[in-house]
Amino acid sequence: MLRHPDYTRDRIQQLVRRLRGKIYAARLPVADLQVAGPVGRISFAEAQRLTGFRPARRGDQFGPAWATFWFRAAVTVPAGWAGSRVDLLWDSQSEATLWVNGRSVQGLNMTQGDRPDAMLLERCAGGEQVEFQIEMACNRTFGVSTGSGYPTGEEPVSPYHLRRCELASFDPVAWDLYWDAQVLTELEAELAREDATSDKSWQGWLLARLNDFANTLDLERRETWAAAREILRDLYAHRNGGRCVELSAIGHAHIDTAWLWPLAETHRKCERTFSTATAYLRDYPEYRFASSQAYQYAVIQQRNPDLYARIQECVARGQFIPVGGTWIEPDCNIPSGESLGRQFLFGQRFFEKEFGKRCREFWNPDVFGYNGQLPQIMRQAGITRFLTQKLSWNRFNKPHHHTFTWRGIDGSEVLTHFPPADTYNGDGSIRELRLNVKNYKDHDRSRECYYLFGHGDGGGGPTKGMLEVLRRAADLPGLPRTAQRTAEEFFDRLERDVTDRPVIWGELYFEYHRGTYTSQAAVKRHNRRAEQLLHDIEFLRATMPNYPRDEINALWRTLLLNQFHDILPGSSIGEVYADSARQFAELFAAGEKLLPAGSQLVNTTGFARAEVVEHAGTLQFVRAPPYGPAVVAEPPAAVRL
Ligand SMILES: [Zn+2]
Repeated sequence: MLRHPDYTRDRIQQLVRRLRGKIYAARLPVADLQVAGPVGRISFAEAQRLTGFRPARRGDQFGPAWATFWFRAAVTVPAGWAGSRVDLLWDSQSEATLWVNGRSVQGLNMTQGDRPDAMLLERCAGGEQVEFQIEMACNRTFGVSTGSGYPTGEEPVSPYHLRRCELASFDPVAWDLYWDAQVLTELEAELAREDATSDKSWQGWLLARLNDFANTLDLERRETWAAAREILRDLYAHRNGGRCVELSAIGHAHIDTAWLWPLAETHRKCERTFSTATAYLRDYPEYRFASSQAYQYAVIQQRNPDLYARIQECVARGQFIPVGGTWIEPDCNIPSGESLGRQFLFGQRFFEKEFGKRCREFWNPDVFGYNGQLPQIMRQAGITRFLTQKLSWNRFNKPHHHTFTWRGIDGSEVLTHFPPADTYNGDGSIRELRLNVKNYKDHDRSRECYYLFGHGDGGGGPTKGMLEVLRRAADLPGLPRTAQRTAEEFFDRLERDVTDRPVIWGELYFEYHRGTYTSQAAVKRHNRRAEQLLHDIEFLRATMPNYPRDEINALWRTLLLNQFHDILPGSSIGEVYADSARQFAELFAAGEKLLPAGSQLVNTTGFARAEVVEHAGTLQFVRAPPYGPAVVAEPPAAVRL
């Protein structure tokens, strides 16, 4: 046996870290990098008309927060790199978009260099010139705050500074060897950390063979690499036993439509995130990426048609998966039943028109509770499945199940799954893959679990590293049997897997974030006023000629947008509420104009009414049937005008 497993483990891990450095062994700092700005959130076309470019150097600081800078570079690829892939390595400690030949190619650096690389040339000739532009936004995944999500105040050094801009020759052999070693090393460390694996034989063999790998691999003698990889290949030949957790995984990037950043930044977050997703979907055929919120697709359709065409291609290939069936991911406590119905109507209508298909699942993982009417509304929107995990954050009462039937107050039922990793922003680590197995509360009846991986809240999505881990974690002892699957494929499997599901009846109450419901009163008042106004417009105009359908739909889209789960509850930054107040003011102004003129009093509610109204300058007692005209009537003796 190995006499000092901790030392052995340390030594292997150090070697693997050094191996990572071999992936980009040949690098070239970009000497002629030019920058212009600060500017606002201008379009790519506007950026092409910028003047005043000046040299940018490593260490340069940029700001203030929310400002944008545009970089340009033209670099000659070293002749000696002929035949190799050329990547850009960029780190500006901020969010950024890489543009090549007028196309948004990929997002970079969501927070602090989490995504520093992007492919520039798949196979270079050597000696050619590459040109690119970078749109650098002085903000991060969580707006202008630190990673914890909350601002820390003024920093002596701008957080947005240029740390790296290099061309690099990509070494695919080092990359594959690194990820082969990294996954097994992390797995071995996890098994040792928990020391609870039932398969001590596998645990011992893993460490011993990784030790052999470390003894065989000499990073400076490339002729040793093949033999070292052969040792790992032997480990990858091991498989799970008969019954184990079947983990379906799907890439995701939860993009809050507004939260710690305004809507205008969300539009760029979508551009960065979807550019990255479409690029990686091409490189990883097994990759599946789920994206909800029809609104975000509509934004890209209008703002970046070239990217939208790439999304359409990926949807057609079955890799980019529209999910959720709603316009945005709405708050599910404050909007009226009619509004929630419209969320599905506008969402499903968009997905059907654009992609020829409605969603079969409601995807709303981050919302602060779910009212008991939702199963009925879902069923009427053609949806029979529901995904969230938010209740795992409950302060006092944790949910008893991850898979169950949720029954609404009218008896409608939907198959419900809470991904047992308790997150919609999975990091793709070995630890988290194992967490699915450890946390799952329904092993006695089911072995199907779903795992959502990728940077989220502020978008970003999966990294290439996460995709490499999942590829290798497919079927290894100590890990669930894992494959990337669409939401439909996962729920089909789940439906077949477990038929005696527990039933949970009524509201799914969320024991957290409750203060939001007494915050930002104005947006809540505007929401209800707008719901009432739109109801009245639709009712009153329905029997008149020239029904203003397009105008009414535009107002609905504004209202639905403001029901987003960080706007309506009150959990966004102040700038979001300034935008919201402006949008509602426009909605009310446009809506009032759509109300018919005239002096006839009409009851626009579904209840018979008898009450005093002020009409034509006087008080009158009127009676009106549900949805009917009011007539002046004799008041009861108790009423005095
Ligand atoms: Zn969210």
